[in-house]
Formats: sequence, structure tokens, C-alpha cells
Amino acid sequence: MTPPLLERRQQLLSPSYRLFYDEPLHLASGQGAWLTDVQGRRFLDAYNNVVPAGHCHPRIVAAIVAQTERLNTHTRYLHDTIVDYADALLATFPFPAQATFTCSGSEANDLAIRIARHVTGGEGLIITENAYHGVTSSTAEISPSLGKSVNLGAHVRTVRAPAAGTDFAAGVRSAIADLQRHGIRPALLVVDTIFSSDGIFSDPAGFLVPAVEAIREAGGLFLADEVQPGFGRTGTHMWGFERHGIAPDMVSMGKPMGNGYPVAGLVCQPDVIRNFGSSIRYFNTFGGNPVAMAAALATLSVIQDEHLMENAHTVGTYLRAKLARHPAILDVRGAGLFIGAELADEAIATRVVNEMRARGVLISSSGPAGNVLKIRPPLIFSHEQADILNDTTEAALDVALSDL
Ligand code: PMP
Repeated sequence: MTPPLLERRQQLLSPSYRLFYDEPLHLASGQGAWLTDVQGRRFLDAYNNVVPAGHCHPRIVAAIVAQTERLNTHTRYLHDTIVDYADALLATFPFPAQATFTCSGSEANDLAIRIARHVTGGEGLIITENAYHGVTSSTAEISPSLGKSVNLGAHVRTVRAPAAGTDFAAGVRSAIADLQRHGIRPALLVVDTIFSSDGIFSDPAGFLVPAVEAIREAGGLFLADEVQPGFGRTGTHMWGFERHGIAPDMVSMGKPMGNGYPVAGLVCQPDVIRNFGSSIRYFNTFGGNPVAMAAALATLSVIQDEHLMENAHTVGTYLRAKLARHPAILDVRGAGLFIGAELADEAIATRVVNEMRARGVLISSSGPAGNVLKIRPPLIFSHEQADILNDTTEAALDVALSDL
């Protein structure tokens, strides 16, 4: 007899894998913001930020299928779609830029580190205290949220995340000074512009300006990691950095870019990429292939045609106001449909997340203390779905608090 799936998984897959929830989910299908498990139970997905257009959006599925049936090669042949997509993507940027395509956000950040070191001649990297930037060796070295077993490099300095009252730029300036004291030239400041793994810090918009000025004065570059906030999730802008009124030297993106198809990229200001690109060849076998580009082009078109950024703003504003009314929620942060709701401690947050899962609504928690509910539904989320989410959060909070 074949053992249960969970047992087979534990036997066959690396022990590095983790599952969500005390009672893991076994999913069978998805449509819009809804997921269905193998028993036919429906779950409202308020966490998967990889599907801005909703699960299995027909227009995106059709674009992937059509290109798969026709041709899939790589970037060493001429192909229309990669250029058409770059054109459409770069049109969303408030400054002239050029694109490089990768398969994952980690690869995009890894490339950004290489470029920064090449261009500045420096080595030093500055990140936030609980940052996450990827799985490759170089990006794991700048991902303290992976835990104490992952060593940060000797050339890496951390800065406290911009919680209320924290002077973020002052932290960046002292990190620069510390690098210089150790004879390390600063190469790059990397920031997830919504500070997702640090606990979600969105306001006041503009606090990144002096931090970016500081790294540039020290000869380094600024990379906006838009893997989480990018593609309209923050509601008022396509990119999280735009809320702060800054023009990064480089911008990395991934997760939502292909609505689930693996595609990611790095967008650079032309004078930043010129010197690297003219001397170093970059060929990423699967990055930017015609199917990936068809998925990305269809996803961007749906985000624009269905006004998903505007929806993220309207529904996100509505949902945040509702969540803020619950007395057990100490603070509601975020922008658009990127929402953090702070609870007293990790035990309550974990209990709420699992209780909500039992009641058919999927969210998670994050932040260094694990006490922030992290809510990131697909950007098609409706007011009715926001009501379901809010009512379920309240019910789960009541259960969690009565358990104490
Ligand atoms: N940067 C941030 C802010 C992320 O959240 C992630 C993924 N969680 C990455 C980079 C890495 O992206 P990927 O998993 O596609 O390599």
C-alpha cells in the first residue's frame, strides 16, 4: 500500500521544505481568489501574492498555452514577445531603463549584487535587520530572516527597519560608516520597499529619500526589491519605490510577474547597466524565454485592463479600515492590498492564522517577532471577499483570545 502523501513527501523531499498550517492543505484547483482542496472544500486565498490576476486567469493561461504550442527557445534568437514585453514593462517606469530577465527574484537580486560590485568597485552591502532577498549564496547572505543558522557575510551590515519613530536614514549612515571603518567600500543598499519580512512598514511615504542619498554619497547604488510590492499591489503606484518619490539605480521583480509562471527580472538605469553589460555576457537559459514573456505580457495586460491596481487601492483601503476597528489589532499597516495587522504576540498570531485556515480563509504571519498578520490577496479581491476575510479574522481572534 502506498503510504500517505505527507509521509512520502517527508521521505522523498529535502528536509528544508516547510508546510503551511498545523493541518497542511492539499489543494486541487484554483479560480479567482478561491482554492479548492482534494475533498472539495473551498478556501479564500488572502495570501498568495503570486497571482495578482487570480488563480488560473483564462487570458493568461491561454497566452501560456498558445506560446507553448508554437515555440519555446531562449534569448539568443530574435523574438517579438521579449521586446514587446520590455516595452510594456518599461513604460510603467518613471525613468528610462533597460531590462534583464531571470527565472526568480533571487537570481534578479543576485545579478544586482554583481552589477553593483562591478560598477562601484565596492563590496559592502546594506540591508534591513529581518530582510529576505533570496535563496542563492549571495542573496542568502543578505537574508537574515532565514534565521541565525545562515551567516551574513563580513561585508554585510544591517539597519533597523523603519518602525514608527525609527530614523531609517540615520541607520543607513551608521552602517556606511561602519563599513568604511573596516576598510570596506559600500556597493549597495537593498530594500524591499514595503519591508514585508520586517513587519510591513509603508509610512510615512518618502522616508527612503535620505537613505538613498546617503548610499549614493558614499559611492554605492540603491536596489529596490519589488518582488513583493511590485506590479500595483500597493494600490496607488505600480512600484513601491514610487510611493517614496525615488528613482532606484536598479529594481528587481518576480513573484506576481507571470501570475504563477516562473519569470522575474532586473530593471536598471541605462548608465548603471551599460558598463556591466558591455563587458560581461549574461545568458540565463530559461530567463526571458518566449513562454515566460507571453505569461508576463498577458499578466501585465490583465493588471492594466482590469484596473487591478485601482482595485487594490479601493478594496485595500476598505479592508484596512475594517480591520483597524478590532480592539485586539494593535496597528494596521500597509498600502493597497499589502496589509500587516499587528497582534500582541506570536502565539496569538499563530493561533489566528490556523483558526482562519480551519474556517476557510488563508493568511499568514510575519515580522521579527512573528506577531504581524500578513494579508496579501490577489488584486482582484472584492469588497465581499474583504468582508469574509474581516469577519473570519474577528471570529478567529475571539477564539484565540478566549484560549489564553
Ligand atoms: N525578495 C523578496 C522581497 C522576496 O519576498 C522573495 C521571495 N519570497 C525574493 C526576493 C526571492 O524571490 P524568489 O523566491 O523568486 O527567488
